[in-house]
Amino acid sequence: MATIEKIAFFGLGHMGGPMAANLVAAGFEVTAFDLSAAAVQQAVANGCKRGESAQQTVEGADVVILMLPSGDAVKGLYLGARGILQALDTDVLVIDSSTIAAGDARQLIAAAGDRGIRAIDAPVSGGTAAAAAGTLSFMCGGEAAAVESAKPYLQAMGANIFHAGAAGSGQVAKICNNMLLAIHMIGTAEALQLGVDNGLDPTVLSDIMRASSGGNWSLEKYNPYPGVMEGVPASRNYEGGFSVALMLKDLGLAMDTAAGSASSTPLGALAKNLYQLHGGDTANAALDFSSIQNLFRRPAGD
Ligand code: NAD
Repeated sequence: MATIEKIAFFGLGHMGGPMAANLVAAGFEVTAFDLSAAAVQQAVANGCKRGESAQQTVEGADVVILMLPSGDAVKGLYLGARGILQALDTDVLVIDSSTIAAGDARQLIAAAGDRGIRAIDAPVSGGTAAAAAGTLSFMCGGEAAAVESAKPYLQAMGANIFHAGAAGSGQVAKICNNMLLAIHMIGTAEALQLGVDNGLDPTVLSDIMRASSGGNWSLEKYNPYPGVMEGVPASRNYEGGFSVALMLKDLGLAMDTAAGSASSTPLGALAKNLYQLHGGDTANAALDFSSIQNLFRRPAGD
């Protein structure tokens, strides 16, 4: 059986850069393309081949991986007369790891299917640290056989690979998870502030709630109150991590999905509003999403 090993990788940003580097480290030949010359330069330094154009990047590729900022970016690159889909051989496997609307993912997978090309959606959870460490979680949507054939590549970049269901299901799983993450992060920040405003030490309160029925991932791994936990964004002025802007993007996708299925998501809607209030258009947009704690904290001396 022939070994598939030539990968065309598009989108070498915070996530895609280290993901492409991990594919190189696993022994794949990776040709990398990005609109940013600096991003391509870094990828070349990490052992990737330079893609001179989108079309040239996919020449001879066995697998195409996309890690782009939005559905429009993916569709612009992929579809249309000059899109890369037209340039792919029919035995190519396409893995889109960008977080985009489930409807866009279905459209792209159907367009690939019309040409006889296998494609899956495979958005990730884990952030930049997991991208660098090769421990991302992939949530895949598409045919089981296509997901199975994507595993050797996904395993080079991640630790957990889930098959969520049919085309677009990976995107649905991703926004369900991130909507819940936003909700419990906000609830955690609100509860911590209530305790602090009433004289409790946030570390003591965190210990109590973690061991009680309020325990959750935000308390366990990502405490939003400064000084409670080492190594998390709250202890470095909310720098790094998963930005408010990206959380707002995912909450927007969650609300669009809910509208499409007439689902009630009142807490998701409120979470989106609170993140918008906190930092949609301000410098806070670049901060880690646990900075929502600042929405509840009182000015010093108050
Ligand atoms: P980023 O903005 O750092 O990188 C995106 C890259 O894509 C940029 O380098 C940009 O120049 C490039 N790009 C845009 N259009 C392009 C095109 N047509 N052709 C080639 N390159 C193009 O974004 P990121 O943080 O790496 O996120 C990528 C995706 O992963 C997004 O969909 C995001 O929602 C998702 N995601 C991000 C995180 C995170 O913590 N950053 C976590 C999970 C999922």
